[in-house]
Amino acid sequence: MTAAMEDEPQHRSEDILYRNLLDWMGLAGHTDESTATRYVRALRQMTRGVHVDPGRHLQVQFPPVTTSLLLITVKDIPYVSLCAHHMLPFWGTTTIAVLPTPGAKIVGLSKITRCFQELAARPQIQEQLGQQMLDAIQGNLDVSGAAIAIRGTHTCMALRGAATGTNTEMVTTSNMGKLEHEPWLGQFLTIARSVLTD
Ligand SMILES: [Zn+2]
Repeated sequence: MTAAMEDEPQHRSEDILYRNLLDWMGLAGHTDESTATRYVRALRQMTRGVHVDPGRHLQVQFPPVTTSLLLITVKDIPYVSLCAHHMLPFWGTTTIAVLPTPGAKIVGLSKITRCFQELAARPQIQEQLGQQMLDAIQGNLDVSGAAIAIRGTHTCMALRGAATGTNTEMVTTSNMGKLEHEPWLGQFLTIARSVLTD
C-alpha cells in the first residue's frame, strides 16, 4: 500500500458503492481489500475530461507564419477512453489536420494533442469523439477546414460479445470546411492512409 493510500479514509462512501456492486455480483472476497478505492481513483482519472473545457487548450495561439494555405497534421496521437455504452476502455491513435485561415493565428501542436486527450477522457462514443474535436477546433480557432481520423481498439468488442481480440479496430473519420473537398481532402487522406496502414 502506498503512503497516499494510507492517508485516505479506509472506506469512503463512493468506495462502498463499488464494494457493494462486487458483493452483489458474488465477487466479495475475490478482490483485494483496496480494489474499490483503486477502481474509483482510476475511474476519476479516466473521466477527468468531464469536469473541464478541453477547448481551452486551443486558446493558446501564436502569430501566423504564412499568408498562404498550409495543411498542418498531427499524426499518431495516443489516447485512452471509456466507451459510454459499456464503461469499458478503448484506446488507439488519432490523426488530426487543420487548415488555418491565411493570416490567422495558429495553435501549438501540443495543444491539439491535449485537447483531444481530454475529450477522450470522458465516457465516449468514438463516432462522436471526432465530431467533438472538430467542434472544439471550429469554436476556438480560425480555420478554413479540419479533419480527424481515429483508430480505436474497443475492449467491449475485443474481450466480450464478438470477442474479436485486440487486432480488430474501429476507424472513424470526420471532416469540415475545405477538408471536405478536393484537393485538401485528398492530401489529408494520403497522410491519414499512410498512418492507418502502418
Ligand atoms: Zn462499448
